[in-house]
Amino acid sequence: MSTPTEMRAAVAEQFGSTVNVKEIDLPTPGPFQALVKLHASGVCHTDLHAVEGDWPVKPQPPFVPGHEGVGEIVELGPGEHSVEVGDMVGNAWLWSACGECEFCRTGRETYCKQAQYGGYTVNGSFGQYMLVDTRYAPRIPKGADPVEIAPILCAGVTVYKGLKETGTKPGEFMVISGIGGLGHLAVQYGVAMGMRVIAVDIADDKLELAKELGAEFAVNAATTDPGEAIQEFTGGGAHGILVTAVHTDAFGQAIAMCRSNGTIVFVGLPPGDFPAPIFDIVLRGITIKGSLVGTRQDMAEAIDFYARGKVKPHVTACELDDINDVFEDMRNGKIAGRISIKY
Ligand code: NAD
Ligand code: ZN
Ligand code: ZN
Repeated sequence: MSTPTEMRAAVAEQFGSTVNVKEIDLPTPGPFQALVKLHASGVCHTDLHAVEGDWPVKPQPPFVPGHEGVGEIVELGPGEHSVEVGDMVGNAWLWSACGECEFCRTGRETYCKQAQYGGYTVNGSFGQYMLVDTRYAPRIPKGADPVEIAPILCAGVTVYKGLKETGTKPGEFMVISGIGGLGHLAVQYGVAMGMRVIAVDIADDKLELAKELGAEFAVNAATTDPGEAIQEFTGGGAHGILVTAVHTDAFGQAIAMCRSNGTIVFVGLPPGDFPAPIFDIVLRGITIKGSLVGTRQDMAEAIDFYARGKVKPHVTACELDDINDVFEDMRNGKIAGRISIKY
């Protein structure tokens, strides 16, 4: 079967609230690249930030968003590859990196200054085909359901890495703030890693899902002071806190939930700032840090949790043509778990 010369893709033509689904030219794989025929792609809130131009460092329109793509290699570019035509691979936010700098050499490749970002600095997975760099593309286990595994490629790896970055031990309390695409997986990874998980969101249905997935305690931050409720439940605060929420309020609230000497990891990226009480942070010796997706090794580990049945994304499938409705529901906080486009 020969490959077509055009494909349908969702294109962000300018910053705004919608993308255009239209025909564009099929890309040609360059050195170390492969052309991948997509079977599925998760829709991450980062894709919405990208389309809206929310962040200080912006993508260059026109671009195709999407960085939770799963598909089959149909053509390899020049050079040596450790994958073959027919293999299932994914794209990821960490689309490629330089491999040479201090960050790449020391297992911190996501902070490489020359890193390319899937669906942001290079076209992503909201189309029938995409390019990947075969040195960086996640390997998809044989037999995995593309629609179900897709959210592991960003939401899964990001929260798995973020949980590790808190240094929280088995048996200790871990708050997950924001139970969306990232957060519903964070609850499951936290439980699988032996942590006592507490969920915080502003929607009761999200909190119900968190409890079904193993959270011991859930707080609605819209109706209850989450700092007070968590200090009381844990007898002094949570050891680790992972903030995935898409509202700046959740970032300041995390400090009040934290135990003395606890660690707060931010992964959510709402545009803006939050007030931080210096006295509290100093006197209670609180660590606050950011975390960006995960390395290729973190990715392999995050996928392995899925392959062993320890985490299972709560996914609803949609069509590429539904993408603007998905964005609208995402903006309004109406999505349970993750939506994956099925091609
Ligand atoms: P999502 O829309 O699926 O979920 C966001 C959740 O936050 C929703 O459940 C919503 O109800 C909840 N929320 C909103 N306001 C809240 C508040 N005040 N307190 C608690 N919860 C609140 O989004 P997602 O795909 O899970 O992404 C979450 C964020 O993480 C986005 O900003 C995204 O860009 C970012 N992200 C970061 C990385 C990284 O590497 N750091 C990777 C992926 C996504
Ligand atoms: Zn580098
Ligand atoms: Zn993402």
